Amino acid sequence: MLEKLYELLDEFNDEIISIRRHLHQNPELSFEEVETAKYIANYHRELGHDVKTGVGGNGVLAFLKGDKPGPTVALRADFDALPLQEETNVPFKSSVDGVMHACGHDGHTATLLGLAKALNRLKDDLAGTVVFVHQHAEELPPGGAKAMIEDGCLEGVDVIFATHLQANVPVGKIQYRSGAIQAAPDRFDIKIQGKGGHGAQPHETRDSIVIGGQLIGNLQQIVSRRLNPLDLAVVSVCSFEAKNPYNIIADTAKLTGTVRTFKENVRQAIEKEIEQVVKGTCLVSGADYSYEYTRGYPPTVNHQEETEFVAELAKSVPGVASVEECEPIMGGEDFAYYLQHVKGTIFYTGAENPNWEQSYPHHHPKFDIDEKALLIAAKVLGTATINYLNGTK
Ligand SMILES: [Zn+2]
Ligand SMILES: [Zn+2]
Repeated sequence: MLEKLYELLDEFNDEIISIRRHLHQNPELSFEEVETAKYIANYHRELGHDVKTGVGGNGVLAFLKGDKPGPTVALRADFDALPLQEETNVPFKSSVDGVMHACGHDGHTATLLGLAKALNRLKDDLAGTVVFVHQHAEELPPGGAKAMIEDGCLEGVDVIFATHLQANVPVGKIQYRSGAIQAAPDRFDIKIQGKGGHGAQPHETRDSIVIGGQLIGNLQQIVSRRLNPLDLAVVSVCSFEAKNPYNIIADTAKLTGTVRTFKENVRQAIEKEIEQVVKGTCLVSGADYSYEYTRGYPPTVNHQEETEFVAELAKSVPGVASVEECEPIMGGEDFAYYLQHVKGTIFYTGAENPNWEQSYPHHHPKFDIDEKALLIAAKVLGTATINYLNGTK
């Protein structure tokens, strides 16, 4: 059956690539993916799958019932794009100003649609059900996953699998990790309320820029001096805003940034420590402050048995040159929510073309993927699905 799956996927490879290019050319921002959702729903309807639209927002579910009884496998692909102006020279470059598929979600969706078509051809022999979870809004908290789950997308699901294309990993390589693979991405907003005044009379003021400068320095001590060095964490101030004419001392300053953690106790500790540092720094300088900490997605924690199951199978999939365990990364991913409800795993599919002079990171205006990765991703996901349904598991 796997041989047949690989043959079908090889046959559909050109179509998978053309779907990816179509989506790439027509990107839509998170929570605005109306046309993309329609496209996906139509594709599944033409295959004869039951389709549910408007799941938790723009989410789409499609169901493929095998002819034999068995478990239910969910496969998830996200389909939103980013607010970026594309700077690549590909012929299927984004046709929408300021919007670009720069994370590979176009590829995830094309992979899943191609795989849906192939699995559909095998349904006589499939034991169980495949739920295709096409998720909107991965890039923008609160994200689409949580709302889709609340809308029932995991009902009856036994296991969930997904992959993320990785533009910095050579094509042919599959990466996996049991346990935490991606961090919890949180956000903080700090406003310093000093006292503005004449640039020539600093003694009459409480200079918000000077206070903000100290604050940035002091915040660096949270990770370096407050946390156990064995705990992974990032605290980054990513914006410092205090715009004024050249001769006016700033009345207020705003700092925003991100915190990345893997453990709940570390997450809570940092939230508190930031407030302590802000409070102390402002107190010394006679300024007031406001502080807001907003939680993003939970950390993404893969289940061990399901991760090893996929990793082991991936080794014999055609096109896969190597399967290796990877380090966790500090980026966030709302696939985390599915894993809080059902068992499963997300693995990485290498998508870097070894002949490119330079590859660009995800979320970069020149981001691109090697399209060979799509077929490999489809084969690995398909292999895991068939093995899970037909009882090797
Ligand atoms: Zn992304
Ligand atoms: Zn992504």
